[in-house]
Amino acid sequence: MSTETAPVSDAYDELLERYERYSTVQSAGGVLSWDQQVTMPEGGTPARTKQQSVLSSMGHELITDEKVAELLAEIEEAELSGEQSAVVREIQRTHERAAKVPQELVEEISETASEALTAWESAKEVDDFSEFAPYLQTHVELKREYAAEIDPDRDPYAVLMEDYEPCLSLDRVESLLEAVRERLVPLIAEIRDSDASLAVDTFDGEFPVADQEVLARETLDTLGYDWDRGRLDTSTHPFTAGNQFDTRITTRFDSSDPLGALGSTIHEFGHAQYNLGLPREEWGTPLGESRDLSVHESQSRLWENHVGRSQAFWELFLPQMKADLPGIEDASVADAYQAANQVYEDNLIRVEADELTYHLHVLVRFEIERDLIEGDLSVEDVPQEWNDKYEQYLGIRPESNAEGCLQDIHWSHGNFGYFPTYTLGSVMAAQLHAAAERDIDGLSETVADGDFQPLHEWLSANVHQYGARFETNELVKQATGEEFVADHFLNYVETKYSDLYDLWARAGESAEPEAVSRWRLASSAVLSAVWFLSSASAPAAPHYRLWYTLCPSLPTYPVDGPAGNCGAGCLLPWPAWRIASRNLARQDEGDAEKRTSTPFCLPVE
Ligand SMILES: [Zn+2]
Repeated sequence: MSTETAPVSDAYDELLERYERYSTVQSAGGVLSWDQQVTMPEGGTPARTKQQSVLSSMGHELITDEKVAELLAEIEEAELSGEQSAVVREIQRTHERAAKVPQELVEEISETASEALTAWESAKEVDDFSEFAPYLQTHVELKREYAAEIDPDRDPYAVLMEDYEPCLSLDRVESLLEAVRERLVPLIAEIRDSDASLAVDTFDGEFPVADQEVLARETLDTLGYDWDRGRLDTSTHPFTAGNQFDTRITTRFDSSDPLGALGSTIHEFGHAQYNLGLPREEWGTPLGESRDLSVHESQSRLWENHVGRSQAFWELFLPQMKADLPGIEDASVADAYQAANQVYEDNLIRVEADELTYHLHVLVRFEIERDLIEGDLSVEDVPQEWNDKYEQYLGIRPESNAEGCLQDIHWSHGNFGYFPTYTLGSVMAAQLHAAAERDIDGLSETVADGDFQPLHEWLSANVHQYGARFETNELVKQATGEEFVADHFLNYVETKYSDLYDLWARAGESAEPEAVSRWRLASSAVLSAVWFLSSASAPAAPHYRLWYTLCPSLPTYPVDGPAGNCGAGCLLPWPAWRIASRNLARQDEGDAEKRTSTPFCLPVE
């Protein structure tokens, strides 16, 4: 990365020096944590806890030192380059957040977390939410206090979320997640009702862990993992840890689920590539650190979903898999692709979810924790709310709290605001991948050929090399040419899963040619004008009749039928129209109550 030239004050240099020490202490803590999760013998815990605690308070002292505040104040007036301003912005944010929260409160939260963890484990074991509820209540109260220390005038959940996403406002996050919910819920309902049969059992069987480990290492070779700066181990929960000089990944193996290990390995590879791609010369400054969790997750999801779950990848990869895992010799590329992309219709567990339903698991958690922190939901009502939302979004209802609201560890740590980053990462991955497809000629052919260099170079040039130089939205805008939006993700999943589950055929459709799409766009503008003009004065039935008479795609609208959606998806040319058409098909089949809404639908009544 080129460094812009500008007069640099002594204060700026000293600030950088201090930040580097803080950052080094933090990364040393990261190595101890990796060791604890991967190689440390169990007996090492008492000493490790002390080592971690000392490092953590050293880091806190370094970043909250009064001298840091003085230096920041001194620099305020200095003339800085764009990169230097970004460095100061990031250090200031870290300093202020750490300095505003009293150390006693941080310790109280940490103590509650360790007690809550034990209570959560036991509550989950015996399926008794009431054992965990008091700790969750304490966490909610402490975290509200924590948010008030940082900014008493703002929504507490918005403040908490900034621990993970400092540059995205709650409003933007909510609007992205709502867009996802609006279109995923009906799509998943369609899939549940479809009678397409996918080759879901392609990888059924027992596959020795040793064979799977060989395959995982070969996968990393194929993708281009730098073994001189990394390693692969196993851990209970796969994770990635490190920096531009040394980033290690872990995975987990299950002899009956080779796709699980493969997916985790590719996912963590994406995280690792981001760390390894950060500029080495910026080590110890924010420019050498990754942006927020959503950006990190976008890198893992891009590799896991847009590469590892693609048809092109399976064309390349299946022969290798067959060589390593005896028993799948008869599998075709289509079989493997279908198995890797199947949607589990009755899965209640987030970490076992497929690419599509995963996000509704996240949405349930996001909505509940936001309401808890904002005081709109009480702790005792969490199980009921959880189960209702599962039924509403996924059409399934947990029978126990162990497989319901007690399944995740996050709330026992007091981590509120973390869950949304998973979905934001996938949404961003789709936008970045669409831009990479635009910029790289024949991207999927390069994947099928095993040439990942163009994609590595694109991600390095557009994301990795910048570290925390730009705020999240700006980074996405620079890389893709537009704001961070949900459209690319929604178009990607709707097209992919409608193809896989033959949803076009179900709605009596065939894929719409581009020329028809353009025609529809033009005609819908005219029809929209008629719609709005007529709706201003006409009573309901006649103007719907007029609308449907004029609308060529919806000839069978039941004007006298029960309430449903009007199908004004014509206002937008393609995805919404598809949903509207499917709704009409359901109406025809007597399934009117299953008609699902589009973001653009207008109520009939
Ligand atoms: Zn991840």
